[in-house]
Amino acid sequence: MDVSDKDSRSRRNFLKGIAAVGTAAAVPFGLADHAEAAKKKKEIIVYRLQSRGTVSCKACKLHHRFVISLKREIADKHRAHPGCNCPIVEQKLSRRAFRLLFAAEALRLGFVDLRKV
Ligand SMILES: [Zn+2]
Ligand SMILES: [Zn+2]
Repeated sequence: MDVSDKDSRSRRNFLKGIAAVGTAAAVPFGLADHAEAAKKKKEIIVYRLQSRGTVSCKACKLHHRFVISLKREIADKHRAHPGCNCPIVEQKLSRRAFRLLFAAEALRLGFVDLRKV
């Protein structure tokens, strides 16, 4: 699949949307191609640390908003700082969103930092 200018622009907007939403089920599919999202109902579960609605510190809020992990254990290993005990929550991603987020590097590491994509 080739990546045109238009694709990389919409990818960036899409990622911004995910970061803005924070956690849990409210993935901004509106920013993705909804026709495609509707066709492909298969979703992939990813894991994030929950900071909204908890007593997390500033570092956690910033970190948890941008980091998405493939596995619960990976999320657990990549906390904002030692002693962070924020709950780990599941988030559903469409296959399209998953593909956009988890390129080769992120798949190898097991997590993606939205600030770096
Ligand atoms: Zn913290
Ligand atoms: Zn935390």
